[in-house]
Amino acid sequence: MTLVKIPPPREQDVDLSRTYDAVVVGSGAAGGMAAHVLTSQGMQVLMLEAGKKIDINQELRSMEWPYDHPRRGEFPPGNHAIRFNEYTVRQPPYAKGSAFKHVFSYVGGWGGSDYVKNILVDEKDHPYTGTHYAWVRARLLGGKTNIWGRLALRLSDYDFKGKSHDGYGEDWPISYSDIEPYYDKVDLYLGISGHKENLRHLPDSLFQRPNKLTAAEVMLRKSFAQMGRVVTPYRAGVTTDGVKNKYRSKCFGRGACGRRPGGCDIHAAFDSPTGLIYPAMDTGNLTLRTNSIAHEVLVDPNTGKARGVSFVDSQNRRTYEAKAKVVILAASTLESARLLLLSKSRQYPNGIGNSSGHVGHNFCEHVMGPGVTGLVKELVGKPATLDDGKPGGFYVPRFRNLQDRQSGFIRGYGFEGGGGFSIFPGNAWDTPGFGGQFKKSVREHAGAFIGMGGFGEVLARYENYMDLDPEVKDSWGIPVLRFHYQFSDNEKKMCEDMATAGREMFEAAGIEVVGVDKNILTEGWSIHELGTARMGRDPKTSVLNQFQQSHDVKNLFVVDGSSHVSASCQNPTWTIMALAWRSCEHLADEFKRGNL
Ligand SMILES: Cc1cc2nc3c(=O)[nH]c(=O)nc-3n(C[C@H](O)[C@H](O)[C@H](O)COP(=O)(O)OP(=O)(O)OC[C@H]3O[C@@H](n4cnc5c(N)ncnc54)[C@H](O)[C@@H]3O)c2cc1C
Ligand code: SF4
Repeated sequence: MTLVKIPPPREQDVDLSRTYDAVVVGSGAAGGMAAHVLTSQGMQVLMLEAGKKIDINQELRSMEWPYDHPRRGEFPPGNHAIRFNEYTVRQPPYAKGSAFKHVFSYVGGWGGSDYVKNILVDEKDHPYTGTHYAWVRARLLGGKTNIWGRLALRLSDYDFKGKSHDGYGEDWPISYSDIEPYYDKVDLYLGISGHKENLRHLPDSLFQRPNKLTAAEVMLRKSFAQMGRVVTPYRAGVTTDGVKNKYRSKCFGRGACGRRPGGCDIHAAFDSPTGLIYPAMDTGNLTLRTNSIAHEVLVDPNTGKARGVSFVDSQNRRTYEAKAKVVILAASTLESARLLLLSKSRQYPNGIGNSSGHVGHNFCEHVMGPGVTGLVKELVGKPATLDDGKPGGFYVPRFRNLQDRQSGFIRGYGFEGGGGFSIFPGNAWDTPGFGGQFKKSVREHAGAFIGMGGFGEVLARYENYMDLDPEVKDSWGIPVLRFHYQFSDNEKKMCEDMATAGREMFEAAGIEVVGVDKNILTEGWSIHELGTARMGRDPKTSVLNQFQQSHDVKNLFVVDGSSHVSASCQNPTWTIMALAWRSCEHLADEFKRGNL
């Protein structure tokens, strides 16, 4: 079979003398979706992306075998990925004083770092300060969507109405019924693979063909069902049946996206450039400027409205202005908050859109670390099967604090996991012996292991926040973020329960437990940052309204995860895109009516 790869569309010339209808800052999931919706409504959009545009297929090299790489995928000398102990023992900025030429976040050390050295930011250029935090950033066209893990989940009213359910925090200003049509649109436009389960707390998507569970995973599914719990095939933001998009192929089940930190060079897995930005460019309404680091939202002193964005060219280091009638921030949760705080003016002395003082606060994400590994004895010695030729393993939806009330913690967690054969038999590391006997033992056991790790909701708390460091600046002279953020007792108790429940469930399934991890990973590890400019009905306690529109500045929108009111325990990207779609449809209507 010949695979046709379509090159990116030709780019339009950037005209900075012109006032665009909208300027979008950032080209990840949120910025890409804003560009898609606004250009399809006929608006003229300029997108500013801080990072470069690279040949991503060449970077990911999804078909490369480990033995075809000179270092089996490892970094070249002089590069370093920050390790768990460095994050927890040292204080940020973690790259300060490092003898390595380039320093990357922990993701650089995960299963083949040579493939992400041009995708992740070099921590030396991009420092941050404050409390311990593992901040993973990807500065390039498409942002983190180039390497995301693809787990694509919906939130439910257990999440949107969390306060009504258990009294904690704030309800979102929307319900599931408000966002459901937009989840549907995202599913249909981008493609999602999964299996219907009819759960109120994890609504089904409009799924394409699901990936098959492996033998070990099927065993777990059957056993969990007896406990009223669910093991469902990984709900992947991957098109398995194909979508109408010439830049993307349907999934060939090569599993390459799971062997390294994400990435699919035929773009069956969603990424923002091929899924959203290139089709938007094909409308003729999108102009893209990469290497453009936005550092201030500009304000019209007469009206108080946003009039554009000031940015630094990352290559020539000159400052420019992009003029627009509407400004849309989509630089990711933490970078958008940074940009709001950086945009100080006479009208907005605490940063634009920050009359509430909530920008940077209520930060939330997912806590992870605890998990369980088991051995399915019935599978030892069975012939090898192709188990990892798919974009993910399985997902166990939340089962705590739904109808029940747990003692010790509120809210819940889910598990991500996988079992069966994989390209490299991880059990080789822990198998004793050497020679022929060692190899035999590794081979016999290779497909018999199964494991899963929890992702739990971190409660949004005003005290968890970030502000601008008064002294430290990045390589372009822009003040950096300073973290004031720690897990609370609720997260710690939840993690204890993850480890206990994980063990119990494996034992109930007749799986021999060979390892239980109880350690909590450093704050930030989940790469699911949320909540720094939350939505709400009350402008005194929230930054944005239900359409991600600033309460203070009506032509300013923030369409990324910073708007989320609580983290839930489901991965956020599908919700980020559904919300952005809803808000940008509203934005385009208001724009046409002359209300912005
Ligand atoms: C390894 C990995 C695994 C993941 N797995 C999952 C998963 O399984 N499921 C899930 O839901 N999510 C997952 N995520 C998270 C997911 O990638 C993010 O939720 C999603 O990309 C957020 O989209 P965004 O547009 O807000 O931010 P990003 O994708 O980070 O995009 C933001 C863009 O803005 C640009 N930018 C930043 N600052 C500026 C500035 N000042 N000026 C101009 N441009 C700027 C950046 O360069 C970037 O391109 C994962 C992430 C990683 C890295
Ligand atoms: S399994 Fe599918 S999504 Fe993953 S790399 Fe292969 S083709 Fe792409």
